[in-house]
Amino acid sequence: MDVDAGHGAALGRALPTQAPASKDIPLGKRLRSFLSFPGGDDDPVAKLTKTHRGIHPSADAGVLRRSYAIAENMHRGQMRKSGDPYITHPLAVAQICAELGMDTTTLVAALLHDTVEDTSYTLEALHSDFGPEVTHLVDGVTKFDKAFYGKAAEAETIRKMIVAAGKDVRVLVIKLADRLHNMRTLDARSPASRARIATATLDVLVPLCDRLGIQALKRDLDDVVLYHLEPDSYARIDDHVQNRPGWQEYLAEVSAKARSALRRQRVTAEVTVRPRHYYSIWKDTVAGGHAVPFDLPRIAVIVDGPPTDCYAALGAIHGQWRPVAGRFKDFIASPKNNLYRSLHTTVTGPDGRLVEVLIRTEQMHRFSEFGVATTYRYPKSTETADPSGADQLSWLKRVLDWQQDTTDAAQFLASLRCDLAEAQITVFAHGQAFELPSGSTPVDLAYELSPDTGDQCLAATINGRLAPLSSPLRDGDVVEIFSEADDHVEVEPDAPRGPRREWLGFVKSSQAQMQINRYFDEKNEPGMSIADKVKLGRATIGLTLRKHDRGLASEVPLRRLAEELGYPDLETMLVAVCERNLEPDAVVEQLIALVDHPD
Ligand code: MN
Repeated sequence: MDVDAGHGAALGRALPTQAPASKDIPLGKRLRSFLSFPGGDDDPVAKLTKTHRGIHPSADAGVLRRSYAIAENMHRGQMRKSGDPYITHPLAVAQICAELGMDTTTLVAALLHDTVEDTSYTLEALHSDFGPEVTHLVDGVTKFDKAFYGKAAEAETIRKMIVAAGKDVRVLVIKLADRLHNMRTLDARSPASRARIATATLDVLVPLCDRLGIQALKRDLDDVVLYHLEPDSYARIDDHVQNRPGWQEYLAEVSAKARSALRRQRVTAEVTVRPRHYYSIWKDTVAGGHAVPFDLPRIAVIVDGPPTDCYAALGAIHGQWRPVAGRFKDFIASPKNNLYRSLHTTVTGPDGRLVEVLIRTEQMHRFSEFGVATTYRYPKSTETADPSGADQLSWLKRVLDWQQDTTDAAQFLASLRCDLAEAQITVFAHGQAFELPSGSTPVDLAYELSPDTGDQCLAATINGRLAPLSSPLRDGDVVEIFSEADDHVEVEPDAPRGPRREWLGFVKSSQAQMQINRYFDEKNEPGMSIADKVKLGRATIGLTLRKHDRGLASEVPLRRLAEELGYPDLETMLVAVCERNLEPDAVVEQLIALVDHPD
């Protein structure tokens, strides 16, 4: 845990005064004064601490109390649209993180996640109070200022969050928990803003959650989105779930029979009832065109043994009940792209009713529920989601690989959306497997191989036959790409070189779109992202300082100057320097004055 006990500015104001541990005061009372708030209020973090300690018994509850006290102090007087005190929100977000099994640092950052954005608490104060890890997490979920960045703010904010999550994925876990609680408390808002927020959630955050494999969180997000977007369907499904006579008894019978079938085959396994969440019932109802909610009884078989035991369990279940043709799926042999692994089957159960059965090992079960959060929930386990050692973060790293190449945040967001929405196919080239969005073409593959191969790609064969560059690839295709760089390819001297604009009309992957746009952008005026402008602004000040034989040991004077000049944060001032709305010489003069003559 990297949460250090700093002595930052906010501490003195925020912490309830603690009685010095004196020998005159009985231990019990001393402990009580330490554990509870003065004034006899109920400990507001009691539930949070209990949940957290239930999963991490030796966790430090003191730092939770300390961060709550600061958050409460800073947000005091602020209200949510519902009329509740603002602090109820960060506390609820921390509670969601605790239930996922996240570590203490995440919970501290969750409690403080809105302080920097919405109060006078600064990143510097946060840093000196709680250290670099918490600061990184809070900064990662802090929005860019809309007033200064205008329309680009949302896209830049999402990109900033994804980049921060690349360094520490807990940023995204906090953001998802934040959104879940905001969605749960949307009732106080107008129908239009409810629909807008719910749609935005469905668009980016739900798929992100899915990619990170955190099903436990995704189910809740799914359901709350359905509640706001399809209130009537939600009510209908709720009514169906609350009133289905004989359902429990039927599932108890199915579970008991499954247990004895497994025992007969000597498979050690736990059988549990696994209700579907509302959104999943709704989806199947709509997809099948059913007039009433379509919801099959479902059980999960968690085997205690190696993955091969799952197939033994499958044999036991199929021996007991006839499987429905076409409903068996082996996500162990072919995991989903978020590394979900499990066997799925549907059988004709007692009384001829269809029953769904999920079969997985304990380890697969953990990863399917908690995804990237698994390593925090089970810190002692060294398991990974995939036997090859891959995890859900490989996908995030790939996203970040191409984010370096895009200059425009809006384009980044568009590509991210596209990458999140698509199903994936696997194709083979040069004896290697490549994952691409479904509908990808040889051009997408060429850019996946390398930007140069993409730019210079001329022709392709699919399964040995020459095919147009725009042909959609299918799962399992074997593809060969021919490019100008290949020795055996002869290019006519005046044939057009480089990518064609019409490729943009059919490529599917964000990598290809990005690279083709980059190729044409470089011929025109190159654009810059806010992050680049911040970098350049910082470098400009560094160079100007050097002209004066000066350097900066820390960012504190810069941040103070930004504040004095009326910028919402340092980054905004650096953008102003980059765009020459602020003269670097003037900044440096004032900076030197500030350092040499602090008042
Ligand atoms: Mn929030």
